[in-house]
Amino acid sequence: TEIKVWKEFDKSRLYMADLESGLHFLLRVELATHKALEGAELKTFKDFVTISAKLFPGRQPVVKLLETLQEWLVSLPLDKIPYDAILDLVNNKMRISGIFLPRKVQWVGCQGSRAELRGYSCSLWKLFHTLTVQAALRPKALLNTGLEDNPQIVLQVMRRYIQHFFGCKACAQHFEEMARESMDSVKSLDQAVLWLWEKHNVVNNRLAGDLTEDPKFPKVQWPTPDICPACHEEIKGLHSWNEEQVLQFLKSHYSSENLLYQYTQ
Ligand code: FAD
Repeated sequence: TEIKVWKEFDKSRLYMADLESGLHFLLRVELATHKALEGAELKTFKDFVTISAKLFPGRQPVVKLLETLQEWLVSLPLDKIPYDAILDLVNNKMRISGIFLPRKVQWVGCQGSRAELRGYSCSLWKLFHTLTVQAALRPKALLNTGLEDNPQIVLQVMRRYIQHFFGCKACAQHFEEMARESMDSVKSLDQAVLWLWEKHNVVNNRLAGDLTEDPKFPKVQWPTPDICPACHEEIKGLHSWNEEQVLQFLKSHYSSENLLYQYTQ
């Protein structure tokens, strides 16, 4: 096993290395457990690629790869696509053509104190928070994709992605329960950002103290007062969130302006 050198990072920033590593893992590892995609799985993957191509605040070669993948998936007249064909497309376009996705995981804000902790699941949360925020910041981005005019779209694609592909089946079941309970109440792109934030905190709360918790990264209700003092209020001695401030904070934390490119390949 490889000995990893600890990478210093700023927890108030978002690292492109985490988002790209997440996409790499999703496309080259998680998806690879499916020999072929068809039916609801294929539709889910297509929609995931479409929202990512339109909303991922990425570097040009990565965005180009997502766009190429999207155009290919949309134009393909097949109801069943072998995974190998997807992998070829993800791998074959090389740096020379300006279309590529780095092939290594490089966790930064998502690094764990042991190899089996954090990493991909951390990056998947960050990826979907980023996509809900980007949709709220750029409401016209999904025009003419068939996915516009739906404030729940990113959440619905996430729900289906988790259901069909996420390797952690218990996680998928928990997430599905939360989605069934209240995703319907989301009526705007801003509410979608807050819904995912709230549900992520529900998961954090449930997992606090669990075996899966990285002792170096205890599960907390996020954002903590040190990174967003204005998010926290006290009403009659009880803690409460200032949701307007939380929304502002999320929109800035998961924006392109907060991205750092250190450690990208
Ligand atoms: P994570 O919870 O992965 O968070 C990653 C980063 O997101 C944090 O470091 C922080 O920067 C930011 N963040 C934290 N909270 C919020 C918030 N509320 N809003 C916005 N950003 C935030 N594991 C289980 O054992 N059981 C489960 O049922 C389970 N369900 C899951 C469901 C989903 C959809 C996903 C994606 C993962 C699930 N996991 C589950 C994995 C678990 O939630 C963590 O991802 C994993 O334990 C790694 O934790 P972490 O410390 O990296 O922080």
